[in-house]
Amino acid sequence: MSFKLSQRSLDKLEGVHPDMVKCVTSAINYSKVDFGVICGMRSEAEQRELVQKGASKTMKSKHLIGHAVDLMAYVGSRASWELNLYDDIADAMAQAAKEHNVPIKWGAAWSIGNIAQWNSSMEGAMTSYIDLRRSEGRRPFLDGPHFELIKIREIMANIYTPKDEEEIFAPFSPVIGYKKMSPSFVDKLNDAMDENMEDWSPNLVGKVTQELNLPRSLINFGQGKWVLF
Ligand SMILES: [Zn+2]
Repeated sequence: MSFKLSQRSLDKLEGVHPDMVKCVTSAINYSKVDFGVICGMRSEAEQRELVQKGASKTMKSKHLIGHAVDLMAYVGSRASWELNLYDDIADAMAQAAKEHNVPIKWGAAWSIGNIAQWNSSMEGAMTSYIDLRRSEGRRPFLDGPHFELIKIREIMANIYTPKDEEEIFAPFSPVIGYKKMSPSFVDKLNDAMDENMEDWSPNLVGKVTQELNLPRSLINFGQGKWVLF
C-alpha cells in the first residue's frame, strides 16, 4: 500500500528546509501508515499561543525556522493519536533520512539523536528514550508527530568567512579571532619561501618559520604584525 501527500500537506511544507521536505516526501512512499503534514513553518505568534496553552514548552521551536514538521497519522480518512502508528511513521522517516543522509531527531526518542544512525526500529528508539527518562526519575516527553533537523552538517560546512579585516566573534564560545595580514606582509612571506620546498605554492602563507626558513629580518618584521587575540 502506498500513500500520497495531499495538496494540503504539500502546502504545509512551504518554507520548510529542503532537506526535511525531501525526507517527508520520500517517507510517504515507505510508510505503512498514511500521514499528513499538520505543521511545518510556524509564526512567532502561533508559537506563543501554543506555549501559553501548554502545548509547547519552548519559544525556540524548530518550527519557527522551518526545521521541523509535525506528521499526523491517518487511518482511512480519520486522524489518529495511537502512538504505535507514530513509530511506524518514524520508521519511514528514518529510512528516508538514511537515504538522503539528513540528520533528523524524532520527538518521541529525543535521547537517541539522529534517527538515520539508529540501527533498529523506532519503537525500540522510543523505548530506549522512555527507559532512560524513567531511570532518571523524569517523565518522558513524547511528541510522536514531531521531527526536526539536526544541523550538524551545516554547522561543520559553514566554515566562517570573515567580513572585516579584523574581528573577534564567539559563535558557540570559545572566542575565535581573525586578523587579516596586510598584502605587503603576505608578499614578503611569499617572496621568502624556498621554492625548492616539496609543497611549495605561490599562494602559500602562514607556514611555520622553521619550515619556511625565513630570514631573521622577516621574522622580526612579522612579529609586529602577529597579534594575540
Ligand atoms: Zn512539532
